[in-house]
Amino acid sequence: MDQHGKAQGPIPISNRNPQFRRDVLKHREAQGLNACFSCGTCTAGCPISEVFPEYSPKKLTKMVKLGMKQEVLASPWIWCCTTCHNCEQHCPQNVQFFSILNVLKNMAAEAGYAPSPWVEQTRQVMRTGLVFPTDEALARKREARSLPAIKSDGAKAKKLIESTGTDKIPAQGDR
Ligand code: SF4
Ligand code: SF4
Repeated sequence: MDQHGKAQGPIPISNRNPQFRRDVLKHREAQGLNACFSCGTCTAGCPISEVFPEYSPKKLTKMVKLGMKQEVLASPWIWCCTTCHNCEQHCPQNVQFFSILNVLKNMAAEAGYAPSPWVEQTRQVMRTGLVFPTDEALARKREARSLPAIKSDGAKAKKLIESTGTDKIPAQGDR
């Protein structure tokens, strides 16, 4: 499979990294990984998989077990989850796939694969305290509808984000 999860023929044994699975399992929230028996129920109930069949929680779980570190961490699909938790609620083995995915995203971010829009949004929150940018036109529209002006202050958000180290995550391509 390539980084998009598509089959590319046999996986060269030299490209596999058994330590990757062990590194994922070091995280308490990912320890359910070993209980997965690849039934695919998670994928069947995933709204992202329904729209984009390339995305598959079952496949990602298998890729981690096979030690496909590079393919998993570089995959753009790990950032597409809607956080709906359907996969966990339907899993017969009580595997917390959403939690495993969070571990994978943290590892990917540390490895320099965080998508640029995510990093830019973090920087936007640090600057303004707001998730989305505002402008004069929006301010005028709110005023015309007698809505209060949006007051924002990035200082508290910046402090919080800095306390987690999230501000140091580079965007993909920054390194
Ligand atoms: S539903 Fe659970 S056991 Fe089945 S493939 Fe998904 S994670 Fe594995
Ligand atoms: S939490 Fe993410 S992976 Fe799980 S079903 Fe929802 S979109 Fe799919």
